[in-house]
Amino acid sequence: MSNNISRQPTKRLRGMYDTLPSETWIWQRVESVVQQVFHSYYFQEIRFPLLEETALFHSAIGEATDVVDKEMFSFQSRSGKKISLRPEGTAGCVRAVIQNDLCNRGTIQKLWYQGPMFRYERPQKGRNRQFTQLGAEIFNVVTAQADAELILMTAKLWKKIGLPNIRLEINSLGTSETRKEYREVLIKYFEQHLDVLDEDALKRLHSNPLRILDSKNPKMHPIVEAAPVLSDYLDEESQLHFDELKNILDACEIEYTINPKLVRGLDYYSKTVFEWITDDLGAQGTICGGGRYDALVELQGGKPTPAVGFAMGIDRIVELIKDLNLWKEQSSVDAYLVIDKEVNSNIINMLSEKIRNALPTLNLLVNQNPSSFKAQFKKANKLSAQFAIIIGANEVSNNSFTLKSLQDKEFGQKEGTFEQLVEWLQQFK
Ligand code: ATP
Ligand code: MG
Repeated sequence: MSNNISRQPTKRLRGMYDTLPSETWIWQRVESVVQQVFHSYYFQEIRFPLLEETALFHSAIGEATDVVDKEMFSFQSRSGKKISLRPEGTAGCVRAVIQNDLCNRGTIQKLWYQGPMFRYERPQKGRNRQFTQLGAEIFNVVTAQADAELILMTAKLWKKIGLPNIRLEINSLGTSETRKEYREVLIKYFEQHLDVLDEDALKRLHSNPLRILDSKNPKMHPIVEAAPVLSDYLDEESQLHFDELKNILDACEIEYTINPKLVRGLDYYSKTVFEWITDDLGAQGTICGGGRYDALVELQGGKPTPAVGFAMGIDRIVELIKDLNLWKEQSSVDAYLVIDKEVNSNIINMLSEKIRNALPTLNLLVNQNPSSFKAQFKKANKLSAQFAIIIGANEVSNNSFTLKSLQDKEFGQKEGTFEQLVEWLQQFK
């Protein structure tokens, strides 16, 4: 038997993606803009595990939510413990805040996180099984100042990225008492329309009737449109909180619409909820969603701690930048080392290290399979390199370097000492 039986190459799992260098630069730039903006509001990064006990997500997100009900990647660990890949960040962040005692004695914490999340959804544009979220949470601020700051920060972000036509929808879900009352009203209302309810809605009727308002089924739209609205049942405290938020947004000239049907998919929200939406991505147009979750920390075993946060889907933001052609890739090759293949490779390695040591921020590409000069120049031009540094037999015997600009005709081509080479390149960098 031969050991050389070739096998079919393994394919990636459905709904999972490879991000190739032709695209990673967009991800990196988005992440770096976000981090700059977060930093300017004094948010600090927190990192927590991709795996947690399944029970955490069940109790934090809620049993009757889409995420817990049908979207989790859950399995047993070797010890028999039920564990899940995180479907979102807030539950793990809250777990970490409690376990590490970060919110003790009312300390305000402003945290951000980023990383992969996992949901077993039907893959389609803007909906992946592994996707990246970038989120921020503020703990221990009870006023709408915090809600507003998060919204102002995201508005700034869309501006810095250059995203056009992103609109803001806000709503208030009230306290859990408000929702209890409204829940009963909704159940009674939908019970009068049982014949119109689809399978999903029937399933949610008693477990999570608010989610019916979020139905994407066009047949249900008329009864959803005519349903009683939560704002008619809002308690006074939530109403005042919502007014404060609207006042700040008005003062800062942030446009918004109040969408009384905006309920968000997770159980932990109370009072403010908001979404940033674009019409340029088709059905999956929500690029950022968030809200207040004042009861969650206590529910998870911590001290009572008001909190508010959001998460944005980086996959959808990158998609938008690509679809709208918002950014141009800048050449990342500063200098391409064009070498005479007869020159001893030790000399080439020594010289390229010497250049890198003198110019640590220079991006220097050394051709490790050198062919003819002509072919190397062709490659350098294809990569839109700024410069070619030429090391031929001539240069080696003269102990010199030739620098040729591939972008600036005026600079042309110059031969000089190592010190001169460094000086010319320094002017560029
Ligand atoms: P949707 O209504 O689109 O399913 P959601 O309410 O489930 O969104 P959240 O849990 O609030 O979404 O997550 C916040 C953001 O994360 C979303 O607005 C979206 O940008 C992104 N997101 C959520 N699920 C996915 C996914 N499967 N693939 C890519 N991005 C996602
Ligand atoms: Mg979802």
